[in-house]
Amino acid sequence: MTESGQADTPRILVVDDDPRLLESVRNLLELQSFTVETAPGGGSAIEILRRAPPDLLLLDLSMPDLDGRDVLRFMQATELNVPVVVISGNTSVDDVAGALRDGASDYLKKPYQPDELLATVRNALHKKELEDANRNMRARLERSERLHRLIVNNSPDIVFILDRKGRFRFVNSRVHELLGYSRQDLLDTRVLDVVEADDQEKAEYFFEQAGRSHAHIRSVELALKPREMARTRRYFEVAVWPTAASDDSGEALIYGTARDITDRKESEAFINFQAYHDLLTRLPNRALFRDRVDVAIAHAQRHGHALAVMFIDLNRFKVINDSLGHTIGDRLLQAVAQRLLGCIRKGDTLSRFGGDEFTLLLPDISDQHAAVQVAEKILESLNTPFHLGGDHELYVGASIGIAIYPEAGDTLEALIRHADIAMYREKNTGKNGIRVFAPEMHGNTPHRLQLEQDLRRALEREEFHVLYQPQVDGETGQLLGVEALIRWDHPDRGVLGPAEFIPVAEDTRLIVDLDRATLRSALSDIRAAHQCSPDLRLAVNLSPVLIERDDFVDGVLGLLLETGFPAELLEIEITESLLISDAHDTVAKLNRLSDAGVQIAVDDFGTGYSSLSYLQKLPVHTLKIDRSFTHTLCTEGEACIVNAIISMARGLKMNIVAEGVETPPQQDYLRRLGCPMMQGFLFGHPAPLAELLQQESAFGRQVARS
Ligand code: C2E
Ligand code: MG
Ligand code: MG
Repeated sequence: MTESGQADTPRILVVDDDPRLLESVRNLLELQSFTVETAPGGGSAIEILRRAPPDLLLLDLSMPDLDGRDVLRFMQATELNVPVVVISGNTSVDDVAGALRDGASDYLKKPYQPDELLATVRNALHKKELEDANRNMRARLERSERLHRLIVNNSPDIVFILDRKGRFRFVNSRVHELLGYSRQDLLDTRVLDVVEADDQEKAEYFFEQAGRSHAHIRSVELALKPREMARTRRYFEVAVWPTAASDDSGEALIYGTARDITDRKESEAFINFQAYHDLLTRLPNRALFRDRVDVAIAHAQRHGHALAVMFIDLNRFKVINDSLGHTIGDRLLQAVAQRLLGCIRKGDTLSRFGGDEFTLLLPDISDQHAAVQVAEKILESLNTPFHLGGDHELYVGASIGIAIYPEAGDTLEALIRHADIAMYREKNTGKNGIRVFAPEMHGNTPHRLQLEQDLRRALEREEFHVLYQPQVDGETGQLLGVEALIRWDHPDRGVLGPAEFIPVAEDTRLIVDLDRATLRSALSDIRAAHQCSPDLRLAVNLSPVLIERDDFVDGVLGLLLETGFPAELLEIEITESLLISDAHDTVAKLNRLSDAGVQIAVDDFGTGYSSLSYLQKLPVHTLKIDRSFTHTLCTEGEACIVNAIISMARGLKMNIVAEGVETPPQQDYLRRLGCPMMQGFLFGHPAPLAELLQQESAFGRQVARS
């Protein structure tokens, strides 16, 4: 655009101190449709140049005020880019050469022909047009390149170009942020050199294929090595695109991107882990265990070898969990998992099946004996106490059931069920131990779920009854009291002992109702017996599950009131584990009962983890020495434990009941140690109260005679 507003007609500024010449040039140029402006000297020319630079300048060199060279210098200084044709009159060759040096693009010597002038003007304008177009194009190119660079470098993905040998020819700066490499680090490096070792093979194949021409995008997931090894591994979706691009020598190039998918990979891995693992112990869960057993069975079938499935159930875990709290319980499970892992080999699968149940698959064993050995190792590993912070030494035992393929079944379901049955069989002994499934166990041992259902029904239908076992004076054999022991008249399975159902009753908390019912009927039975034996004491076993309830003390006191039973004649038997923490205000509760006159006995003393000095601080009146100590009485060593317990308990003024006294030598031995009370088959089996009371006089007579 020209200043006059006429589009596309080049504007020419003519500068000369000769007015006639100015006029004639103007006429000549205007005839050719140029827009013409004139200036009579260098000063006014500079003014016009400042205000509105023309498309072309025709400049006389010698002028009186500021001459042509001055104008050129001004233009140079202000970087004014207007083509200049200098008109030289009587000027020297040096002046012309100087003007050309100062930026003039052409020159014309006076006098000139009109044609000559027009040709020079057109030529200069054409040159300028070309230059402008060129400059514009370069600027556009630069802009577009900047834009591309911006897009490529700000791409969230790594963008790269490889040559046929898989070496980086280009890589954008994103690679620095994602992997720590500078672009220089990578140029000429092989892409395979930044692939993690375990993905090498996959990557080699992929890039080899990428080198061949394909019509579509190909992609692969690869782990790429970060520059510093300390960085965590990152995963990428690497894609290569079909391209016709080639390098200077005509060799085809591979264009690709690598998208960081680490977050997605990690969350996928976590979800996957979660689906197949127990998050507390990080062991495989039930689902994964079943998978593994399935695979192992198929394998064993093909190769004709044996395998073992084990059920490992912790004993008394629930009590610890309830009394010490779930945090300790969780930590104990983790610690147990670690111990168990220490007993198995690579290739075996240990899983947490749920709660305190673990399962173990030994996928290839020589025989049953090998499985039993592993189980023994497991039990042994649990012998050492667990220290989980605080001053608790925790002991857990386990019951282990083993099912061997193919004897115990050849399906996943059968093996798991049979290991479970064997485990329950063992658990019912009430001790830690191992049992291998044998077909005759079938039918005898109901499934746990079945047992649970049966128990609920039994409570409604009152299928329970209480037997009483005498507790006698160690010296005279005189009946001092009885312990209430529950029995279940199972409609199909006959009379069941507590070991067969108390664990399930505790797990399901049905024990709360069961123990309350037992306490109520025992209190009223013995209350009735007080008519003949007014001092007869009653000992009742109460589960920790009941004791930890807030309404426990009021419940007991309420029943005493309801039955009119003298509190001093009631002794409640609790387990040692209950006392090791005060998570449920146990001590306060026992103190309240004790204040009301109720006696507290610690049952099976010596099998748990309480120390005598500790018990002294608690409201405990009686220690019941576990029958395992009574049975090994007369051998060396073990006897010392009983001696020690009895003498210390006497020092602490606690009552002692020795349990499980079966033979006269045991009785004698305990009598000599000064054990005040005894209980055991020697004095009577658990029996209905009436039967027991009938025999009472017989005891009396027996002792009187001796
Ligand atoms: P416990 O309190 O230690 O009861 C003594 C157990 O030893 C009874 O087994 C009894 O029959 C047995 N026993 C007694 N004298 C001898 C003997 O001379 N030799 C041998 N080998 N055993 C003897 P039972 O009746 O099978 O009870 C087992 C356990 O079940 C009891 O151990 C007690 O912890 C629990 N229990 C029994 N009744 C109840 C109840 O009503 N509620 C709760 N929560 N637990 C109960
Ligand atoms: Mg007892
Ligand atoms: Mg006992």
